[in-house]
Amino acid sequence: MTAQRPQKFATRAVHAGIAPNPLTGAIAPDISVAANYACRFGDIGFSAEGTDESKVTYAYAREGHPNGRQLEAKLAALEGGEDAVVFASGIGAISGLMLHLLDPGDHAVISDISYAGAAEFVRGILRRKGVKVTLADMSDASDVERAITPRTRLVYAETPCNPVLKLVDIAAVARIAHAAGARLAIDSTFASPAVTRPLALGADFVVHSLTKFIGGHADALGGAVIGAQADMRALRNEIGTHLGATISPFNAWLILRGIETLPIRMEAYARSAKTVAGFLERHPLVSWVRYPDLPSHPQFLLAQRQMANGSGMICFALEDNSALGAVLEKELSIFKYAASLGNSRSLILYCDTADLQRTTFQLPDRLLQRYRKLAGDGFFRLSVGLEDADDLSADLAAALDAVQSRPARRAAKEGRRTRKEKRP
Ligand SMILES: *Cc1c(COP(=O)(O)O)cnc(C)c1O
Repeated sequence: MTAQRPQKFATRAVHAGIAPNPLTGAIAPDISVAANYACRFGDIGFSAEGTDESKVTYAYAREGHPNGRQLEAKLAALEGGEDAVVFASGIGAISGLMLHLLDPGDHAVISDISYAGAAEFVRGILRRKGVKVTLADMSDASDVERAITPRTRLVYAETPCNPVLKLVDIAAVARIAHAAGARLAIDSTFASPAVTRPLALGADFVVHSLTKFIGGHADALGGAVIGAQADMRALRNEIGTHLGATISPFNAWLILRGIETLPIRMEAYARSAKTVAGFLERHPLVSWVRYPDLPSHPQFLLAQRQMANGSGMICFALEDNSALGAVLEKELSIFKYAASLGNSRSLILYCDTADLQRTTFQLPDRLLQRYRKLAGDGFFRLSVGLEDADDLSADLAAALDAVQSRPARRAAKEGRRTRKEKRP
């Protein structure tokens, strides 16, 4: 048995959950694609106690497999949780946790603004199954208190929240939830454990889309819930076994590999994002920029307290967003116009307030007004990748220059037309 000393985050990112193969000595993890595992008579079933691999027995891969288990051990080590359960996608993790915690007649307080799939799951399936849901502005403790009832079982929030980068004071909301006997789950996809540790701040569950920063290469879907041993055991037995949203061994393996560079990637994303956000803030056409590590962020002080850096997401808007939208395809050579986030390649996406309200958020007037204060009619969301920050700023500068010269070009064209029309 080798000596166990406490390890720092970067070391855990590389080593947690992974040991050389005891048969071959292979240091990099093998992929175990087996659907079923040889068992002993009278002892057929997956069982996992804690993260001690020697106590795990496998039976059928839907219930658990070695690569999934390695990923769970690594994620638990990084979030400072006792255990984790991984799923086929982030939405698999979110819906699994909610179906596990909430029964008909229970009440949940959910972030007014959350990832589209989560918002739509809550509004659709969860409500249809008889769970009462109240939306609250999680950035405002009094709004959360107002929403809580004696039947509240779950408070669910994202921080920073997708897409508008509003932050939630995890410690404050945890106190409110716990005082009412409810559990707090935080979707920390936009931060990753390199930036924020929700469990240390009082959350009961951390949820991730592993597809984003954690996997980091946009080549594998995955999701996870991290929390206390007893909770994870119950979640695994009930949901892991019966909903079947099992991550594939190959995706678990890819994500394990991605996590090894998570600490250095998150530093690189944040450094570049701060440079790009600063460039945008100085640009005369840009009317506002939101980035957690800029003093102009309305919750800058909370970000300083709760986030190790600003992470890799930026929002910004122009007076006329459609003018930028019209030139993106022609002018951008690095940024791709695409959904999703958190990988090597920089992405840009327009978030139209009216569209999101109609298709996803369906907020009551009071909360829609709050959202409009942050989002206006719409804004561009950037996911900053691993390219050079100066190249990224130059890419955006080219598109903004094209917007700037557009009115002039249009005026010139109109001028020509006017002259033409005036010709006899
Ligand atoms: C993408 C995303 C999800 C959903 O994850 P999938 O892996 O796409 O299912 C959940 N929460 C947030 C904040 C996300 O960005």
